[in-house]
Amino acid sequence: MSTAKFEQIGRALREHQRFAVLSHVRPDGDALGSALALGLSLKKLGKDVRIWNEEGMLEKYSFLPRAELLTKPPSEPQDVDVIVALDTAIQNRLGTTLASIRSTELCINIDHHPSNPQYGDIAYIDSKSPATGQILFELIKSEKLPMDSDIATNLYVAISTDTGSFQYPNTTARTFEIAAELVREGVDVGRVSQQTYENYPRRRIELLRDLLGTMRFHADHRVASFSLTLATAKRLGVLPEDNEGLIDHLRAIRGVIVAIFFEELVDGKVRVSMRSKTDKVNVCAICEKFGGGGHVLAAGARVKGTLAEVEKKILEEVCDVVGRYSS
Ligand code: 5GP
Ligand code: MN
Repeated sequence: MSTAKFEQIGRALREHQRFAVLSHVRPDGDALGSALALGLSLKKLGKDVRIWNEEGMLEKYSFLPRAELLTKPPSEPQDVDVIVALDTAIQNRLGTTLASIRSTELCINIDHHPSNPQYGDIAYIDSKSPATGQILFELIKSEKLPMDSDIATNLYVAISTDTGSFQYPNTTARTFEIAAELVREGVDVGRVSQQTYENYPRRRIELLRDLLGTMRFHADHRVASFSLTLATAKRLGVLPEDNEGLIDHLRAIRGVIVAIFFEELVDGKVRVSMRSKTDKVNVCAICEKFGGGGHVLAAGARVKGTLAEVEKKILEEVCDVVGRYSS
């Protein structure tokens, strides 16, 4: 934790008036919860705040306190003083939100992706932090920015979702201390957990049933994959957000080291999502070879080609890496 950097960010937040708080395309709980948390804190400071995501608020996270404040970017570009990019490893993953900003004085980049190249005027990248929400908690406390139960709940969901519900190895004692403080601030753990993990639309489980039908094992059962075609997505009426977390079913299998999810996209590309069980098999490095990025144990890329072509290319690379690893 760098107090000097926090002071610099704290000063920039207090000194300016018009903010755009942005996060990455295909947002997850950390992207949406973090953006709402910081946006709400800035609002309490009396700031003029926009909270934008390319996709707007997802149905599955619409229970987040003050979710209505997070919208799609407007068609008419606006002038702001400060952009705050949250949880976004590379600038172009801010998607269409940037096109809605005509001018800005300052760009602040707060993130935990190790592949983040530190874009922006002030960059605070802590790759040890399990969630951008955890960095924001430290910033809010360190700089005495406003906190309340709505902000706490957004931060709690950000941290809970990015740690796989406090299970991933980057979950530290500090993460639990922060969770405890958030609960003291008013998070209703039972209610929020139910809204986050036990409120899926039925089509998500129907999708899982279909995906399991395509499940395959490779590299002596140490790699597992499943795939989603556009036709299946259409037939089941699934939304892009419905598949978040389904890959964990593959990683959860005993003996599997790498799980891979292939999703056919409309633009002649395939979204590849990867999870690893060991830092000796770095899926971020694999995804970077294909133009993607992420974390050591969770990464992704969008790769040009048909589903079959991309599956072949990626599986060859993954099996090669896994073949060199002996546990
Ligand atoms: P997921 O598999 O849940 O979509 O993403 C896992 C991690 O990889 C996230 O931290 C996400 O930011 C990163 N990631 C996913 N897709 C891409 C991509 O196309 N490019 C980059 N740079 N990172 C990605
Ligand atoms: Mn994150």
